[in-house]
Amino acid sequence: MNDILPEACATWRHLESAVREIAESYGYRELRLPILEHTELFRRSIGEVTDIVEKEMYSFEDRNGESLTLRPEATAGVVRAGITNGLLHNQRQKLWTRGPMFRHEKPQKGRYRQFHQFNVEALGYEGPDVDAELIVMSARIWRRLGISRLTLEINTLGMPVSRKRYRDRLVDYLSGVKSRLDQDSIRRLEQNPLRILDSKNPDMQGIIEAAPVMLDHLDTESAGHFDELKALLDAAGVAYRVNPRLVRGLDYYNRTVFEWVTDALGSQGAVCSGGRYDGLVEKLGGRPTPAIGWAMGMERLVALFEVCGGRTPAAGTDVYVAALGEGTLERAFALAETLRDAIDGIRVEVNLGGGSFKSQMKRADRSGAAFALVIGESELAGNRVGLKPLRSAEEQSDVAVDDLVRVLAEKTMKPAAGAAGSSK
Ligand code: ATP
Ligand code: MG
Repeated sequence: MNDILPEACATWRHLESAVREIAESYGYRELRLPILEHTELFRRSIGEVTDIVEKEMYSFEDRNGESLTLRPEATAGVVRAGITNGLLHNQRQKLWTRGPMFRHEKPQKGRYRQFHQFNVEALGYEGPDVDAELIVMSARIWRRLGISRLTLEINTLGMPVSRKRYRDRLVDYLSGVKSRLDQDSIRRLEQNPLRILDSKNPDMQGIIEAAPVMLDHLDTESAGHFDELKALLDAAGVAYRVNPRLVRGLDYYNRTVFEWVTDALGSQGAVCSGGRYDGLVEKLGGRPTPAIGWAMGMERLVALFEVCGGRTPAAGTDVYVAALGEGTLERAFALAETLRDAIDGIRVEVNLGGGSFKSQMKRADRSGAAFALVIGESELAGNRVGLKPLRSAEEQSDVAVDDLVRVLAEKTMKPAAGAAGSSK
């Protein structure tokens, strides 16, 4: 579980707002959810025989003896909230949410026990148009952030009927090579054989490669859905690779599943993954409602953004106010407040704890401020302050206090409050 320090937060915020803006530009609206849910919710949605439920959940009993779990993913909570708040009653919902998720995994680069996701979910949409839209939206995020080195893998898991047929074929095959299966897989052979295809064990990869594939056992409707999705992606110019082994680690998926993967982050290559979960709403007690969503791993997004040379626009202090001499601190406080009142978004830092001119200028420099405002006794007497550019060779100038707002609004290129454009 990581601390995210101020410098990193600047990048996080930059990425979060880009992703949020793009989701909203497609009509998705924010939903904020609790971090704790009943353990039962995740057992029922993610599935008993999955890595998450078997070994990764942070579960505990609360004071009433109820079993609660720190959410390992967001979709179950979104569906629960949709049902309990009546959001799915004759309505369709396009929603986004974000925040921390918790999984007791083996921590390594790109894999943490508290990590963050940005999630989008479309409930009440049958697709495949919305499937394509969600993928096109994620592609826009990469373009906007200058992220390359991602490839899109897609697959279809069909519907429960065809999946059942496929499952039988898979069990036949896996039973034939049972002596070469690892412990997890032997256990899953009976209960949840599809999960074996999601195994991360390198020794299992050969067996998985040779397994029969779902694509050969699809129902006609799912095949049509998949073809239409591919056609829409082709038309939108989004390249993809069909990966027939892509099954995803949660049980609730059907039909479309996809993953954006990179080779730039070592073995933790999945940056954004998702799929359709048409049966989940009903399974959790709602009316049958088709749905699809994706989750983006923010830690991996930040890492990839940096690998791709992404830069976060600086958002440091604009003005550092230095106060030197008798009665100047009060004036510095008052002027700083005036500036904050008058100029939207200006960042003003007043020198705290006194100090010589030299030490105040040193702090001003360290603050990253573009300008220092120097308030001394003689300047005060003349109602003028010194304006010292810290990031250019320009000389210090003397500015009348009455002109200060206008001059700083211009120099920091921030709109004065109440000016045209700032009242929208
Ligand atoms: P992986 O195959 O890497 O374990 P996953 O299939 O378990 O990923 P999902 O449950 O689909 O992942 O979560 C969506 C996204 O969240 C992933 O694509 C990844 O970017 C991110 N993610 C998942 N688990 C972690 C983790 N432990 N630490 C950081 N990011 C994670
Ligand atoms: Mg995982």
